Amino acid sequence: MTSAVVKAAAATPPGETPTPLARVRDLGIRHDGATHPAPAAASFDVARGEVVLLLGPSGAGKSTLALALNGLIPHAVPATVEGSVLIDGLDTAVTPVAELSTHVGMVFQDPDAQLVTGTLLDEVAFGPENLRLPVDEVLARTEDALRRVGLWERRTENPDRLSGGGRQRLAIACALAMGSPLLVLDEPTANLDPQGIEEVYAALGELVAAGDRALVLVEHNLDAVVGITDRVVVLDHDGRTVADGTVDEVLRARADDLHAMGVWLPVSTLAALRLRDAGWALEPLPLDPAELRAALETVDAPASVA
Ligand code: ADP
Repeated sequence: MTSAVVKAAAATPPGETPTPLARVRDLGIRHDGATHPAPAAASFDVARGEVVLLLGPSGAGKSTLALALNGLIPHAVPATVEGSVLIDGLDTAVTPVAELSTHVGMVFQDPDAQLVTGTLLDEVAFGPENLRLPVDEVLARTEDALRRVGLWERRTENPDRLSGGGRQRLAIACALAMGSPLLVLDEPTANLDPQGIEEVYAALGELVAAGDRALVLVEHNLDAVVGITDRVVVLDHDGRTVADGTVDEVLRARADDLHAMGVWLPVSTLAALRLRDAGWALEPLPLDPAELRAALETVDAPASVA
């Protein structure tokens, strides 16, 4: 156990809930050269196995916060940090990135930035090899991770031969092979075509169903993620946590506020907000096409349309 873990464990009084997998408290990060912090005062927890969707308008500090979860901030990206991030009990401010890499895995927008070797197998084995694990363990982890994202059969191929969705699934396999209980994905489908988006979310859906990893997702494509999300945390324009609750409590109940703040919403919810403005009585607000269709079938059209 490192000194950082001892410190965190000692901070939990006996009889209280154990430290969550991730604990972010009053986190403020100002990049060197920036005039203001973003995030400014973010606080939330992530429990084991939980899927947390992090939302906020552009510039609120979501990507910056993602980098703080695996210690790249403050260890690799120069920034002034206030507050704290504990991952698995480790204080990221004093824990080396290499040690954090076995507790939190990252998947970025651009999969190519993370790919370095010759075959899919080599690529996924690279991380566990660097942990100096026994060869059997490296191979077992590599096979398990490639199978989980549906790429085991293509293990001898070069990553260049994969589609964008395939390369992003490979990046997810690389993160999985490190054994981290927490994966942080920052807009993993931003550069993908619809088929790639579907592939990535099918893989993530299976991961979530297996229940052994927690995910923190920064994602604009709300339609793809709502179905797998347990909790939604919202940062406002200033980077402060202004909502933290279930999909129903946050997306459905506060859709108007979120929309006004510049937070992305599912397409069906946006359509429903427009229809409601035009007089349709859509309450509760639908979050997906099936709910929107069902709601439209049961309500009467406003007098101006009927
Ligand atoms: P979001 O992901 O919510 O759009 P970001 O985390 O990308 O927000 O950015 C938060 C703030 O930090 C913005 O004001 C942005 O301009 C600034 N920022 C992000 N990266 C850097 C950087 N490398 N250097 C300086 N400022 C940065």
